[in-house]
Order: sequence, then structure tokens, then C-alpha cells
Amino acid sequence: MDEAIQLTDDAKFTEARHKAAALLKAAKVKQAPVTLNSIYQLIKSEFGAVIVPADESVVGKERDAMLINRDGQLIILYNKNRPVVRQRFSVAHEIGHLYFGHVMGNSSLKHGYKSFDEQEADHFAAHLLMPTAFLRKDIKAGMKDVEELAKKYGVSKDALWIQITNGGLINLF
Ligand SMILES: [Zn+2]
Repeated sequence: MDEAIQLTDDAKFTEARHKAAALLKAAKVKQAPVTLNSIYQLIKSEFGAVIVPADESVVGKERDAMLINRDGQLIILYNKNRPVVRQRFSVAHEIGHLYFGHVMGNSSLKHGYKSFDEQEADHFAAHLLMPTAFLRKDIKAGMKDVEELAKKYGVSKDALWIQITNGGLINLF
């Protein structure tokens, strides 16, 4: 293992934040909810990637989504039988793999152990769906009910709490 090139968690978090913020800016998304439709066109034009709903039989029972390269065509497949908040996070995670250049990545949020690539993709997904700037504004405006915030952002309460903690927003509550 080459320790010299390992980024710290903080550095990973910052890079994911910058990449997600750049994408949101390009898509002119300024508030929650961040719909994946609003960024789909950019992903198509930048990577030629398509996002396709699939059955468990295709994606795999333990998997929420995957990024595959079929004869040069990048395809994000997601398990359409999962709850919507999970579908959104999983697709955002795969989009993270695209932006970090993990071309053959695949994901399962169930894995206890997460590789470096998986953590980067997770951080990206969190920042894409729950930009800390958006959250800070909403919380300061008085939205302090996590359930209400989770609904507005189209994410799970667990994902929201992690982002609030990681993003240093906990002191706003
Ligand atoms: Zn992954």
C-alpha cells in the first residue's frame, strides 16, 4: 500500500464537495430537491452515460446500483424495487464514480467495508443531493425538523444526519 498517495478523509470530503458543487452549478440547481433529471443531460453529454432502471435479477440481489461499460457505452443500472430515496442515493453514488473516473466501479451500500473509491462516491452522492450550502440556508431559515428536511431533500433521515454531522452543521440545531 502506497501511503504517500492516500488522501485523508477530510481531503476526500472536500474534493467530493467541489465536484458535486461544480455539477450543480453547471446544471443551475440552486435549491433542494436536487432531481437527478436536472443533471442527467450533463451526464449524457459529458460521459455519454445513460441511467436505466432494472430488476433485481439484473442488478443483483445485494446491489442497489452499478456502473457498467457495455462496448464503450457507460450505463448506470439501478434497482427499481428499492425505496425512492435509496434509488436516488445509489444513482448519485454511481454518478460519483463517473466523476471520479472509477469507470468499472460497482456499489452496494450494504457492504460493511468500504473501499477508498466507494467512500469517494458516497461523499459525492451526499454532496450532490444534500449540498451543505443548501442545508445551511434551510436550517438557518428555521427548518430544524430532520424528517421534514429529509423529505425536502429526497433522502433518508440517516443519510441526512450523516451529512449534517460531516458537514459541520450540527451546531445550527
Ligand atoms: Zn460504488
